[in-house]
Amino acid sequence: TSAAAAERELAEPYLRQVLDTAGLAVEYVRAEGNTLYVRDDDGAEFPVADFAGGYGSVLLGHHHPEITAYARQLLAEHTPIHAQFSRHPYANRLAAELNRIIARELADDEPYYAIFGNSGAEAVEAAVKHAELDRGMRVSELLGSVDAGLAAARAAVADGSATVHGEAAARLGVALAADGDEAVRLLEAAIRRRNDEIVASPPLFLALEGGFHGKLAGSVQLTHNEGYRLPFKSLGAQARFVPQDSPEDLNAVHARERRVLLGLTTENGRVTVTEHEFPVFCAFLVEPVQGEGGIRVLSRAFAREIQDFCARIDCPVVVDEIQSGMGRTGALLASSRIGLRGDYYTLAKTLGGGIAKASVMLVREKRYRRDFEIVHSSTFAKDSFSSHIALKVLELLERDGGAAYRRAEERGAALRSKLDALRAEFPDVVADVRGHGLMQGLEFHDQSEASSPELRQIAASGLFGYFLAGHLLRRHRVRTFPTASAVGTLRFEPSIYVTDSELGQLYAGLHDVCTLLRKQAGDELTAA
Ligand code: PMP
Repeated sequence: TSAAAAERELAEPYLRQVLDTAGLAVEYVRAEGNTLYVRDDDGAEFPVADFAGGYGSVLLGHHHPEITAYARQLLAEHTPIHAQFSRHPYANRLAAELNRIIARELADDEPYYAIFGNSGAEAVEAAVKHAELDRGMRVSELLGSVDAGLAAARAAVADGSATVHGEAAARLGVALAADGDEAVRLLEAAIRRRNDEIVASPPLFLALEGGFHGKLAGSVQLTHNEGYRLPFKSLGAQARFVPQDSPEDLNAVHARERRVLLGLTTENGRVTVTEHEFPVFCAFLVEPVQGEGGIRVLSRAFAREIQDFCARIDCPVVVDEIQSGMGRTGALLASSRIGLRGDYYTLAKTLGGGIAKASVMLVREKRYRRDFEIVHSSTFAKDSFSSHIALKVLELLERDGGAAYRRAEERGAALRSKLDALRAEFPDVVADVRGHGLMQGLEFHDQSEASSPELRQIAASGLFGYFLAGHLLRRHRVRTFPTASAVGTLRFEPSIYVTDSELGQLYAGLHDVCTLLRKQAGDELTAA
């Protein structure tokens, strides 16, 4: 019967159960500003201060009145949401506005072309696909010049103007036959065999340890967390993960993985073997502030190292601003604050104003391959609704000379001072406080050796931060979560409208959590 069907839980019931164990499986019935509402048993609503902020999607709050009013207007006007394969002036305006702001932040006006998507992971996949299309085209160009060298050598040997150099033959294991034509033919065959093998091998990506770039079949290969990545390893090209702040590791991975194509050159009557650097690396993925990896800010110095390294090996840099971008750190691009320039950028989350699903991949003109437009699309991307909403978001960020960015900085500093105070008072409990603007994290010391059996148990469960979040929700009506790949770090990404009183509420809740951890009162912390 339909009633029985309604009772049966089929929408990720296991996830709901896991959330339940930490006391987090509540239903929110309404959202406004920095607040989510839960209905209690008597049917009355009570407010929860939202520090999870849709993991970064509601920098402007839930249901910002202007965004909501604009959405209503768009629907009332019957804006053409499904008009694929037509002109999209609104998407063009959005791309232009993003370019205007980015040019200001980078102090450079090289344009970025925009490819739209629906989710963050989709923008990452678009960047990766574009980078691979570009790499393939560069490989073809390289093979073209190798071919030209082979043909020239063949011709020179045939007309007697050159001979195969002994070293070249020895290097490729070709016996230097008496017949020069035969020698060059064998050399060419050996070179082609070797080159074909290298060209056919999948590319490699570079990414940082702790990095998170999505969970789709391609993007999950770039997400460091093994729990998410390893079961799906066979589905895509692999990444090599490098630790932060270690330029030696960059050079080491390059030395280990670099490949060269071989060719032939003819000079002074001699045919010799040449080496041509092969583009093994498709792209280097980097978050200016790692979100799911525990709110880790990329240093200006290491950003410089990455930039220089990638320039040296001609590997494009994909700056993933899906969580850090859209004003959260006081600039549209958090990377612009540390002097990191992307060949690609990805933006999502707040781009949709908390109501639309929208993402964009931006690629600089220098790397742009227009053929990508013909081979990549989504039914839902680049539509008038999400494009208009995103334009409204940019208007709100840019209004009054960028007051929203300054507010993100100011509210971020106010939040940060609360977290710093906790760290100062509880150095035995709080290991670190990190972040910038409205992207802050508080890392707890590991409790796997705790004297409290409950604390040892939750530390071993892999859900440590979720239990702390459950306590904060139940006892303090504060919503926060640990970061996905570092569950000992709680993340705080409230809206720019977060009030001093909400910050006080968060501080009181965290103070209580720290006190209980110091007392090793695991029973109280986990009590329903
Ligand atoms: N990149 C980063 C940096 C992210 O934080 C996220 C989401 N947490 C993603 C990519 C994936 O975005 P989505 O969940 O919209 O696919």
